[in-house]
Amino acid sequence: MKKEEILEKTKYYSSWKSDYNYIMSIFSFDLETIAPKAASEEANKAFARIETDYFKVLKSDDYIDYVKEAYLRRDEFPLEYKRLFEMQHRDYERTKNISPELQYEMSLLFGTSYTKWLEAKEKGDYSIYQDTFSKVVDMTRKILSLRGKNKGTLYDICLDDYEPGNNEKILDKFFKEIKEGILPILKKVVLSKVERREDFLEYSVPIPLQEKISNFLLKFNEFDTNRGLLSTTEHPFTTFPSENDIRVTTHYHENMFTSNIYSVIHEGGHAIFGQNIPHKFFTIGLSDNITSAMHETISRFYENYIGRNPHYIKHIYNKVKEICNDIFSDVSFDDFYKGINIAKPTLIRTDSDELTYCIHILIRYELEKDLVNGKISTQGLNLEWNKKYKEYLGITPPSDKEGILQDVHWTGGSFGYFPSYAIGNAYGAMILNRMKEDFDFDKALEDGDLLKIKNWLKNNVFDIAPMNDPNDWILKITGREFTTKDYIDYLNEKYSKLYNF
Ligand code: ZN
Repeated sequence: MKKEEILEKTKYYSSWKSDYNYIMSIFSFDLETIAPKAASEEANKAFARIETDYFKVLKSDDYIDYVKEAYLRRDEFPLEYKRLFEMQHRDYERTKNISPELQYEMSLLFGTSYTKWLEAKEKGDYSIYQDTFSKVVDMTRKILSLRGKNKGTLYDICLDDYEPGNNEKILDKFFKEIKEGILPILKKVVLSKVERREDFLEYSVPIPLQEKISNFLLKFNEFDTNRGLLSTTEHPFTTFPSENDIRVTTHYHENMFTSNIYSVIHEGGHAIFGQNIPHKFFTIGLSDNITSAMHETISRFYENYIGRNPHYIKHIYNKVKEICNDIFSDVSFDDFYKGINIAKPTLIRTDSDELTYCIHILIRYELEKDLVNGKISTQGLNLEWNKKYKEYLGITPPSDKEGILQDVHWTGGSFGYFPSYAIGNAYGAMILNRMKEDFDFDKALEDGDLLKIKNWLKNNVFDIAPMNDPNDWILKITGREFTTKDYIDYLNEKYSKLYNF
């Protein structure tokens, strides 16, 4: 193949992939937001077909010959191309033993699984979902077995898929440090006699008012509303159909207005990352070459390091008071800030505070590791879940809705995703410390200068993301090897101030 021919095919396939991504993203966005439930079976079938047609092209001789040759000759090309050829080859290696028939079966199963999960979640009854879930786990293990030669455990493959270079050994150590760092702080918080007002967190805030708050927050954080939108769903997510179409979703609870606030800030963080990837990566086909931990680093950076900082909360407080008229007339800023930053064991991960958040992840990590490795089954897994909540957080879910059925991730076989959130928290603390070397972070928040923060992230963090695996990425940003120390120090400092210990 001539060099020009490789470049020609690169152009063709990159454009073809982005077109398909556009269609599939809009399709799944529709399914998870506005599609009538009654249509879910046909929709799942149609989606599985589109996904499989896409997959068939990736299995064609023309594509595989191109991927192999481009990879072998990658050193003849500029760095961005070299990176693309390596990524394409990595994907090829991952799917080369999977047939289109199996891909179709998997796609169909994951679609059905989502529908069944929704039904079970609504009824708070795991037994409705367990059979389907068992099939999801079997399918995942089957696919991993087909792929996983000389790659350690099956769960090691999942971890490496999400964060290249990660494995159980590394994450066991990581979570041990997280556990040993966080649980002693939590113990001090629980024993603390400091009183907080929590009542206002359950004040009723009509949804139209909450929508105004969402729109304010997205704009304030520098989300480009001309190139994206906000919608609602059961389980908030962000989707990236194209460079100029990035969609954020939230879920409104009338009696828990902060849930929407932090969903919007979190998902907005994903979107801001997506909107600020340099244009050249969209053209070449590398714009989505960002790992989930990198993404969660940014979304959780916005949610916590920015969103739960007192200077930032001051802006939310003022806006909420303005939009909601008298609803919060008896709530002072001090009540508001401290109420939002209450730390205590709770059941729902997405609404949990910064301190206990990683314990929720730890629980999921321990369960999914054993599940994927075949050490435990789906039978009675809801009870295992409850046992771990009792062990680590001292609380038990009243039903499976607040327990094992709360998260969507496992329904589509996304085992290995959860650790990304915890890793992202730790990356974020390192990035925050590095950012503070360049400018006064608190002052920027006080001034409401989110543009300054976004620009810094763009220049130092976003621009280099598609070209690096996570470990190199964090090293290049901070000049340091990955550590949990910054994160644990941050939590210690924050909560000792809030709870006087
Ligand atoms: Zn996220």
